[in-house]
Amino acid sequence: MSAGDRKGSAVGMRPSASGMGPSVRALERICRKRSVVLGYHGVASSRLRDDLSLLQVSPSRFRRHVELLLAAGFSFVTLADLARRAGGGAPEPGLAAVTFDDGMRNNHTTALPILQEYGVPATVYVTIGFIGGVSPWIGPGGDGAMMDEPELRELAAAGWELGAHTMTHPDLSALDHDACLREIEDSRVELERIAGVRVETFAYPFGRYGPAALAAARDAAVIAAVTTGSGSWEPYEITRAMIGAIDPLPVILLKLTDRYEPLLQSPPARLARSASKRLRESFRSRRHSGEPSG
Ligand SMILES: [Zn+2]
Repeated sequence: MSAGDRKGSAVGMRPSASGMGPSVRALERICRKRSVVLGYHGVASSRLRDDLSLLQVSPSRFRRHVELLLAAGFSFVTLADLARRAGGGAPEPGLAAVTFDDGMRNNHTTALPILQEYGVPATVYVTIGFIGGVSPWIGPGGDGAMMDEPELRELAAAGWELGAHTMTHPDLSALDHDACLREIEDSRVELERIAGVRVETFAYPFGRYGPAALAAARDAAVIAAVTTGSGSWEPYEITRAMIGAIDPLPVILLKLTDRYEPLLQSPPARLARSASKRLRESFRSRRHSGEPSG
């Protein structure tokens, strides 16, 4: 069955669930209960020293995630379609939206062909100032190139949703309402000019926002905004399970069921996390790098 054979916007060719083990059965239970939003940055095989923020998921892992979700029965939609179908609350169960932040070129060269094999659409949140450049968070030996304008138009032509992700990727929680609104609206308008499509949704850089940014997102001409974390279907605070480079499947399952962050707040997890952070900071101190999570 091709994507075109399906009615409506929910698409995806379903691989066989046989031989996929307990993960697919756990996902089937999730699929019966809820919809999910996954957040990625890049799909590439980068070495740790070039990807200290763990933003790049290998192509084989990414393919496995998509195959498992399809085998479990999820239908894939863009974030805008998901928000429309949710109608301001939690959407019907069984929908999945794949999103990418920042606009990395490997979204086009690597993720697009994999998703096209299964007829799965995605949403990419584009930072205007990064177009045609290099990700500030990927090292010189990594796959850090960002898409250029023709590549963005090709994604739109392939059925992907393009979403706004500000002009300069600031921490919006530190800006006032007017500055937030300019970042959101200018990037939406510029992306519409570049791609010739409507831009309907927005992603907060780093997943960070305060009352001013939230009010600005509501005032902007978008129907929904996404952040990181868990537990919200509020239209301008839709949370996403952010998938890191080395997340094993059990961790991804916890993230998809909103049970990961509560576990992170437990004392043993806090200790392990701070030790791991100190280790990565000692690597990172040799060069400038941020800590993006959105
Ligand atoms: Zn970002």
